[in-house]
Amino acid sequence: PRPLDILNSTLNGTKQERERIPVGEAVLHWYKRDLRTYDNRALSMASAKAGSKGVPLICIFVVSPQDYQAHFTSAPRVDFELRTLEVMKRDLAEKGIPLYVTTIEDRKEVTGHILQKCEEWGAKHIYCNIEYEVDELRRETKMVKRCLDKGISFTAVHDDVVVPPETLTTGAGKQYSVYSPWFRAWIKHVHEHPHLLDASEPPAPNPPAARLRFQSIFDAPLPPAPENKSLIDEERTRFAHLWPPGEQEAHHRLERFLHEKVGAYKDTRNFPAEQSTGMLSVHLSAGTLAARTAVRSARDGNSTKKLDAGNPGIAGWISELAWRDFYKHVLAHWPYVCMFKPFKYEYTNIAWSYDAELFAAWCDGRTGFPIVDAAMRQLNHMGYMHNRCRMIVASFLAKDLLIDWRMGEKYFMEHLIDGDFASNNGGWGFAASTGVDPQPYFRIFNPLLQSEKFDAQGLYIRKWVPELAGVEGKAVHDPYGRGAGRVAEGAGYPRMVVEHKVSRERALARYKEGLGRA
Ligand code: FAD
Repeated sequence: PRPLDILNSTLNGTKQERERIPVGEAVLHWYKRDLRTYDNRALSMASAKAGSKGVPLICIFVVSPQDYQAHFTSAPRVDFELRTLEVMKRDLAEKGIPLYVTTIEDRKEVTGHILQKCEEWGAKHIYCNIEYEVDELRRETKMVKRCLDKGISFTAVHDDVVVPPETLTTGAGKQYSVYSPWFRAWIKHVHEHPHLLDASEPPAPNPPAARLRFQSIFDAPLPPAPENKSLIDEERTRFAHLWPPGEQEAHHRLERFLHEKVGAYKDTRNFPAEQSTGMLSVHLSAGTLAARTAVRSARDGNSTKKLDAGNPGIAGWISELAWRDFYKHVLAHWPYVCMFKPFKYEYTNIAWSYDAELFAAWCDGRTGFPIVDAAMRQLNHMGYMHNRCRMIVASFLAKDLLIDWRMGEKYFMEHLIDGDFASNNGGWGFAASTGVDPQPYFRIFNPLLQSEKFDAQGLYIRKWVPELAGVEGKAVHDPYGRGAGRVAEGAGYPRMVVEHKVSRERALARYKEGLGRA
């Protein structure tokens, strides 16, 4: 049985017993990657439970350095979470709801600490939203039982996705492994179950007495970022400027995007210089915005009020949001993708390279391929990269450099502010042809053609690779091959680390050889 099935059956099997537990003196909401008050399922349920007996709602967030290590969470992401928690602490305090934030060094102690706090506060009900990574699902399953031993009810609900995993199956009752039929089933299911898009009630204010009772929590400052995840001052300022925290910011961005850009999304989304996408991934992955809210808002702005018909920009954007659900379904159904294994078993035997110098050139944006270098520098500067460029650099690492795609997957998580295991793993599997519904292995992006097609004017390249700012015209895509070598060399821009024609043939041979050994 899969970890999600085990959690579901544990929750179902204990439902009656948990429901019999009295409300207690407080109710707890455990925040994880759902850092918002609006449209938050578990928070809403916790608030309703507390309201039913007029006891206070308390929120808790645990900073877990070992979890950050285990997930390769980037320092900008940790910083974003802490900045968001600061905003949330203020917002929740306006409703008299305390947000307790603490650091627990040993991840095994997290559950024990939460239980200890429940005893201290007299809380008998804990609510949280489900995360689909294996360790988290196993932890939550254990928690249901451990809590029951102490007379506490632990409830975990689906919130992170629009349609819960394991809901959509093929005619043969299996999990889809191809996006297009899965997406048709997803659309049909949401149209048939429109309540899936309904917003949850925001939490009600706490009774006034809560203020005095939890004064020390209201007054406590947030803990600092773990030492190995903290930013230097310049970075902190930069990321705070690029990615303001909190759910209000997420809603402003969503509204602006739906108002100004979504109409043209389908035609413009592939061009990195256009800044035509929602740039909401950090909010969706940290939970400052619910995917449900995003889909509902887009649908409501559509003339047909449908998800897949009407305004092509809106339908196109919703279909991208659905990829996020798809990869979470994949993760929940095939949890071994969490374990550094390719989704497709037959790709296990590819002889990857671990060339440290080439990998460093890729990481730093010094490959001599302008579009690749621009994209990697965007990532290193912003903690973000445009989707088209994510595909280009991932394909380049796995196929042109034949470097183990898992090194790229890890580097992305360590640097992205929107790092999300399922989407990142899915994206890497797609580009390296080892994942679910991937590019066929013989489709190898030509970085120069990609560059000419999607950054025709070279605006994106010139923005992120200042050495090429003085290179005119189409030479910007390949300065050494197109007569701008002297300008590029003078500015210190490197030559290409591989020749695409040669590396393409090498990749085809290496993939074929690996598949032959499977
Ligand atoms: P929009 O174009 O505005 O899309 C709206 C939302 O839809 C996104 O915010 C995202 O939540 C979702 N979405 C869009 N495309 C995808 C996709 N291909 N897969 C899954 N969800 C999608 N996305 C992450 O959120 N975190 C990651 O760690 C991540 N790693 C990736 C790694 C690779 C190699 C690739 C190819 C893609 C990865 N993506 C990841 C998906 C995608 O690149 C980003 O979600 C997107 O670029 C975010 O920009 P946006 O918010 O402007 O997107």
